[in-house]
Amino acid sequence: MPELPEVETVVRGLRPALSGRVITGVWLDWPNCLVFPPVEDFAAQIAGQAIRHLWRRGKYILADLDSATLIIHLKMTGRLYVVPDAAHNEGDRWVHFRFQLDNAHQLRFSDARKFGRVYLTPDPGLVIGRLGPEPLADDFTLDRFVERLAGRRGALKPLLLDQAFVAGIGNIYADEALFRAGLPPRREADSLNTDEQARLYDSIRAALATGIDHEGASVNWYRKPDGTPGESQEHFYVYGRTGQPCLRCGTPIERLIIGGRSTHICPACQPPHSG
Ligand SMILES: [Zn+2]
Repeated sequence: MPELPEVETVVRGLRPALSGRVITGVWLDWPNCLVFPPVEDFAAQIAGQAIRHLWRRGKYILADLDSATLIIHLKMTGRLYVVPDAAHNEGDRWVHFRFQLDNAHQLRFSDARKFGRVYLTPDPGLVIGRLGPEPLADDFTLDRFVERLAGRRGALKPLLLDQAFVAGIGNIYADEALFRAGLPPRREADSLNTDEQARLYDSIRAALATGIDHEGASVNWYRKPDGTPGESQEHFYVYGRTGQPCLRCGTPIERLIIGGRSTHICPACQPPHSG
């Protein structure tokens, strides 16, 4: 699933093509992806609205319109791209939404597995209101992270995946952050000492920032809006590297299942009782 770096890359890629454009109409053939409003109201509510600002919150893509916000979650296989009306794109066979723009271009939402979600609402808080802080925001300080860690029970890996704890981290960047921090994924969150808390904070931000620098990870469906893959996967320490030597110590990377999720670690760099 696209995570913060992939979604940020999509937003940055779409912004020049969408900013200031007017959505003149919408076509869709899979209303189950539309959470609200009711499908019979959707086209009438969105038509004629200009796209004022495109931004990201967690893994959500938000387009502020004149009197509502269009929100899209890519989930497993969602792709967004803007092309001329008549253009064919390799993602078109899975397109379920076409937003017609006022310049003979379309914003298309392609989603093979149809798990993606689309919302149109005057109150984006209905969708994003329960998300935790943005991990790369200036106001997400080490002190604030430590405050949020306090009293949190349970293992680190599922905590990092909890969008209400910190927004935007998924399976890939959780594994990368924990490796960078030298912490095992089953470590209890409330057992970290001050140094480990700081290492985890820095590692989360570094893993995500590196992912953005390389324009996201194309390990499966994710593509940038221009159709090309990201390169973040070429810079992973552990994710998807099962059996390959650790880039720091040479120990083979291991794959575990934690909370039902595939998890990659270096057993030497992330020992069970590290710290
Ligand atoms: Zn290692």
